[in-house]
Amino acid sequence: MGHEYVGIVEEVGDDVATLKPGQFVIGSFFASDNTCEICRAGYQSSCLHRQPMGALGAQAERLRVPLADGTLVATPEMPTDDLIPGLLAASDVLGTGWFGAVAAEVRPGKTVAVVGDGAVGLLAVLAARQLGAEQIIAVSRHEPRQRLAREYGATDIVTERGDQAVARVKDLTGGLGAHSVIEAVGTQESILQAIRSTRPGGHVGYVGVAHGVELPGQELFFSHVHLHGGPAPVRRFLPKLIPLICNREIDPGKVFDLTLPLDQAAEGYRAMDERRAIKTLLTP
Ligand SMILES: [Zn+2]
Repeated sequence: MGHEYVGIVEEVGDDVATLKPGQFVIGSFFASDNTCEICRAGYQSSCLHRQPMGALGAQAERLRVPLADGTLVATPEMPTDDLIPGLLAASDVLGTGWFGAVAAEVRPGKTVAVVGDGAVGLLAVLAARQLGAEQIIAVSRHEPRQRLAREYGATDIVTERGDQAVARVKDLTGGLGAHSVIEAVGTQESILQAIRSTRPGGHVGYVGVAHGVELPGQELFFSHVHLHGGPAPVRRFLPKLIPLICNREIDPGKVFDLTLPLDQAAEGYRAMDERRAIKTLLTP
């Protein structure tokens, strides 16, 4: 299991043209050819030939990556150890948070709210800052995560939940709601909170995997809110994110607050489940 990964190329298949052994590479959670019409439009996670990497199992010493030319992006040189957590974050949680911000149409000068303070939500804050947002409201009830959200660029923290959180976001945005809201949880409560926190004409970028979500049609109709999201096409963003990390302009690796060897993976999941860790990094 596991679908986030970085590694060093050990061997390449006969049809692989752009990669060679010894390169440090980053992939993402769907392998994609990066050449079909859907990929060329920037939706590599819906590639016509996509293959889910979780099924191949990235939490392992070795991994076979199909469609390697399309899937993997190599770093310009071998990264130092301190850069590896950031590059691993790019494989999913940073790429996903970044897509949430892009899907929510974050632009310079806009107001942004982020629902969800897991690794994706925190890195959506970082993405919104990088994309030039003026005001970034993080919704979080957990003090260590609030601190990291501030460090990543949050200007305001909302600790309420549900409709009370919506009211706070409106208070902070002149009564209108945010221009852009990133939804990084995937529950009925969080998606409604995101829609209700968005001003008419604004955009929700939803990247929390939906569990049991049903949208009320009439509320949606009268909201005048754009909805866009889904499984992030992380591959689209890797060529932009890798230099930002390697040049130390961003440090997304701070979301990994627990590092464990591969044979203690179960403890890594327990720590995240019990909220003792934001995100666990497993080392081979
Ligand atoms: Zn494709």
